[in-house]
Amino acid sequence: MKYISTRGDAPVLSFEEAMLTGLARDGGLYVPETIPTMSTDDIAALAGLSYEDIAFRVMRPFVGDAFTDDEFKGIIARAYEGFRHDARAPLVQLGPNHFLMELFHGPTLAFKDFAMQLIGQLFQFSLARRNERVTIVGATSGDTGSAAIEAFRGLDNVDVFILFPHGRVSDIQRKQMTTPDDANVHALAMDGDFDDCQAALKDMFNDFDFRDGVRLAGVNSINWARVLAQVVYYFSTAVSLGAPHRKVSFTVPTGNFGDIFAGYIAKKMGLPIERLVIATNQNDILHRTMDTARYTKEGVVPSISPSMDIQVSSNFERALFDAYGRDGNAVAQLMDELKGGAFAISQGAMETLRDHFDSGRASEDETMATIASAYVGTGEILCPHSAVGVKVGNENLSSTPMVTLATAHPAKFPDAVEKAMGQRPALPPHMADMMDKPERVTRVPNDLGHLQALIKDRIAAR
Ligand SMILES: *Cc1c(COP(=O)(O)O)cnc(C)c1O
Repeated sequence: MKYISTRGDAPVLSFEEAMLTGLARDGGLYVPETIPTMSTDDIAALAGLSYEDIAFRVMRPFVGDAFTDDEFKGIIARAYEGFRHDARAPLVQLGPNHFLMELFHGPTLAFKDFAMQLIGQLFQFSLARRNERVTIVGATSGDTGSAAIEAFRGLDNVDVFILFPHGRVSDIQRKQMTTPDDANVHALAMDGDFDDCQAALKDMFNDFDFRDGVRLAGVNSINWARVLAQVVYYFSTAVSLGAPHRKVSFTVPTGNFGDIFAGYIAKKMGLPIERLVIATNQNDILHRTMDTARYTKEGVVPSISPSMDIQVSSNFERALFDAYGRDGNAVAQLMDELKGGAFAISQGAMETLRDHFDSGRASEDETMATIASAYVGTGEILCPHSAVGVKVGNENLSSTPMVTLATAHPAKFPDAVEKAMGQRPALPPHMADMMDKPERVTRVPNDLGHLQALIKDRIAAR
């Protein structure tokens, strides 16, 4: 299995190389050269299997000869053993034909654990075999940083540095990043906002001496291995609702388009998905794009679903690549136009996108009202991101079962949930003591030279 860039001008890589590289050298994103398919019989045979067994069968064709079957099975087993639910991605019912896929039973209570836990094990295995070390530096507004720390903590061949804006993440998010006491984990509270953290990260990647010197690696959501991990739960869920003999639709709370793009890959592989519905909060660039065929950047307005507050939806580039007949030049041109703030999508490409995707949005008030009504009607407590999904899912019900993805545990966003339903959601019992654990964090100035020196010193000290 070979991986090519969406901009058509970067080296063709193996799965392992694409995973360790992250972003392609031409600025594009890696995608498989061809999408492997599963037959109706292959899909029917998934019925009743464990999440891990389904994960193995769905992902195996994408990794090529990077691992033996036993190696890959071991990687998958280690990735998901820390989840607190035997089904890993259990379903609950919200209404006559509306289901909720709970993706928050991993170690940091958000769906990012599904991909990050797997990528941690994949990195560790590949690096140990190559006898290499890498330094992972990430910038986070909350969920990604904690998921990365949890996935890479204690691994021998990796140091992980997470930059977060000092004073601007929730108490729980901060505790999740500062309480792990492993020597390879470095939580850095930077003076500045999230954009400053991201800018510092970008500067480090653009400083090639530094990048090569510390072997910088990226695990943000454009890494193909993260998308691949998320394809699995579309299969496990659809099969438990009757696929391949019955179609299923999904509504996905969307920011960077990674999660919903995984659903699109599942469909391309042969899973009978009827509709994939994009659900956005008030930062609705994707909903507007589906409506108007114009992708226009506007300022981000902070919302109660902060993990979806984005201005540029990175993984949408992968959908565009397919919609433009896999023409890397066409995609490169669109991304060039975007530097001016917007691009228009051709009629043909728009038809392809609309063939697969619907969209909707939820305002702040609608999100709060959905948290309240879901609790009254079903007893389920939704996080604000999941509530955005449920609101849009409700608008797209049909005779086909609708599954909305619940992307985080409500206790990660206690203030918004309490405001919506008058009750503060409790942390799961095994995390109840987290707020009392000692923190380990280094306050850092917004200064590239200082950050680079600190990272080099810490690595040298290990
Ligand atoms: C990251 C995140 C999202 C958005 O997912 P994308 O793959 O970026 O579309 C939604 N909800 C939560 C809780 C998240 O952490």
